[in-house]
Amino acid sequence: MTARIPFLDLGAQHAEIADEVAQGFERILATTTFLGGPDVDAFESEFAAYQGVGHAIGLANGTDAVEFALRAVGVGPGDEVVMPANTFVATAEAAWRIGAKVVLVDIDPESYLMDLAAAAAARTSRTRAVVPVHLFGRLVDIPALRDRVGEVAVVEDAAQAQGARLRGRAAGQGGIAATSFYPGKNLGAYGDAGAVVTDSAEFGRYVRRLGGHGGLVKYEHDIVGFTSRLDALQAVVLRAKLAHLDEWNARRRHLAQRYDDLLADLPILLPEIPAEAESHVWHLYVVRLPDDAPVTARDEVLARLTASGVGTGIHYPKPVHLTPAFADLGYSLGAFPHAERAAERMFSLPMYPHLSDAQQDEVVAALTAALQ
Ligand SMILES: *Cc1c(COP(=O)(O)O)cnc(C)c1O
Repeated sequence: MTARIPFLDLGAQHAEIADEVAQGFERILATTTFLGGPDVDAFESEFAAYQGVGHAIGLANGTDAVEFALRAVGVGPGDEVVMPANTFVATAEAAWRIGAKVVLVDIDPESYLMDLAAAAAARTSRTRAVVPVHLFGRLVDIPALRDRVGEVAVVEDAAQAQGARLRGRAAGQGGIAATSFYPGKNLGAYGDAGAVVTDSAEFGRYVRRLGGHGGLVKYEHDIVGFTSRLDALQAVVLRAKLAHLDEWNARRRHLAQRYDDLLADLPILLPEIPAEAESHVWHLYVVRLPDDAPVTARDEVLARLTASGVGTGIHYPKPVHLTPAFADLGYSLGAFPHAERAAERMFSLPMYPHLSDAQQDEVVAALTAALQ
């Protein structure tokens, strides 16, 4: 059964920019400049300006962006990289691919963001970088993190937080951040894409070298690099969407506030709305069954929602240390109780700018019935 109210509806979003995208694609096809070129250059400058940083480097995907940002700050084989246990697995993959040691820490049970005290406690003489993940669209307080962890590189994983600002600061300002333009992200391409944003010209050049076979000029290979570039066709889509991003994020905030009002009396825990509204761009709206609910309750609730035509998601069903892929890290069940408990009880409701208030009312009605 196809969901009446899908978890994500990219079709409605495309309809809003369809003409612009079609014209842009025509332009690329006419010139056959598929990599680099004016649209890539323009998107990189527009996105850097939007994030309030000096440099944006378009890449093939967000995982490359996290990896290259880690390499730029000097992470190498054997170095330790501290990150939260509840994140999309890509954050851990990026460090692993360098040969670095992934060091996980628990999350704060209210915000679901990395516990800053735990991050500070995890620091050793081998820690080369700390990776705060702006999970679900909410910014980690970077100055507060820096105060806690001291002199160590901070690489922000901003894949879910395009457009968020905390005390006027966006991800990457004064440092380095990685982002993903996976189609479902707040700023999504029509395929894979990502970027590194930074205020450091040196980091920016290094990341561009890494993505372009180790050089800035064709056939000049200064270092051993990779192939990771932003396609011109994707740049067309991203430019068209970037012009709408603030408006779309504002719409997400409206929907989050509305869920908060409409779900207030239900026996579930709602996500915290931060005092500074702009610091959250609601990539996901994640609710949670109370700790005393049986662990099987979520499956039942989700099955009922599916049966009534409402799409849902789980972000994420397993914290990184409980995935088979990262079993070798050696953490056991119980290592990160807040992340583990949340993973068992969280689920995500439809949240996207083109979800109408009327559709949201239907989600609320279906959830109310499912919880009875
Ligand atoms: C999406 C995402 C990434 C990168 O994913 P790609 O699919 O490689 O673009 C990295 N970290 C987080 C937290 C993400 O959500």
